[in-house]
Amino acid sequence: MSLPSKIAVIGAGTMGNGIAQTFAASGVSSVMIDIQQDAVDRGVAAIGKSLDRFVKKEKITQEQRDEIFGRVTPATSLDAVSGAEIVIEAVSENVDVKTKVFSELDRLADDGAILASNTSSISITVLGAATKRSDKVIGMHFMNPVPLMKLVEVIRGQDTTDETTDRVLECSKAIGKIPVAAEDYPGFISNRVLMPMINEAAFCLMEGVSTREGIDEIMKLGMNHPMGPLTLADFIGLDVCVNILDVLKDGLGDDKYRACPLLRRMVAAGHLGRKTGKGFYDYD
Ligand code: NAD
Repeated sequence: MSLPSKIAVIGAGTMGNGIAQTFAASGVSSVMIDIQQDAVDRGVAAIGKSLDRFVKKEKITQEQRDEIFGRVTPATSLDAVSGAEIVIEAVSENVDVKTKVFSELDRLADDGAILASNTSSISITVLGAATKRSDKVIGMHFMNPVPLMKLVEVIRGQDTTDETTDRVLECSKAIGKIPVAAEDYPGFISNRVLMPMINEAAFCLMEGVSTREGIDEIMKLGMNHPMGPLTLADFIGLDVCVNILDVLKDGLGDDKYRACPLLRRMVAAGHLGRKTGKGFYDYD
């Protein structure tokens, strides 16, 4: 299983810095690019903190920590993708922003480079169509927190070749992940199955079937889920959940994916979950 010698990650946010850290921990030089210097600085700081936790738990030594940290090169220009075998886009979940990034990457990345997206719900085929190399465009959907979660959902667009898919499956395994392939339909597998469950939990709360604690406890104890659906929704962000439900409803043309009115009301109130300190639960 051969690792790429260099990768580039676009976006230094929650997912981008986790992806850069994960490749660096496997010995791969990782360039991490964001549009703003402060976003890059925050991403670098997040990697430092995460690695410090691994040292504290004695999973890695201080020396290994410094080596891994040294393999991440921050940048603010997309020109830094030069020389990367795989470029992984992890910018904000907005189709216009992502298609623009893909068309720029197509111009700047090496001819043979694979362009991957960490999108949760945007069509890989649409992103591929923004380039002249749709055969080399693919989804690499990592889970949060990236350094800890094993799954990579690998999504083939309409034109993605077997060669591209095989290389991404191989690289995912080489960095210690377990890749699972899915076709390019709205929400792929993970969100198509997860979001209706979260939505139904919100309907149950809205209709008074049980309390937030009751709903979460039933799913935890009864289905052996590590956390209840309302706690998970707070972790993901209620705005993100509503956006993905809208993608499922539009893309699959089925009203069963309509977002629960309570979810929409909470988003309108700015109660987005952990990131705003208030969602289904309150956070300090
Ligand atoms: P985030 O908001 O934490 O980070 C996004 C980063 O992208 C920001 O730092 C922003 O400055 C940067 N950015 C925006 N436009 C850019 C551009 N043109 N060039 C370079 N950088 C740009 O978002 P996130 O949570 O890390 O999500 C990133 C992607 O990963 C999204 O597509 C999201 O759907 C997906 N995803 C998120 C999660 C999650 O749990 N957060 C899980 C799986 C997949």
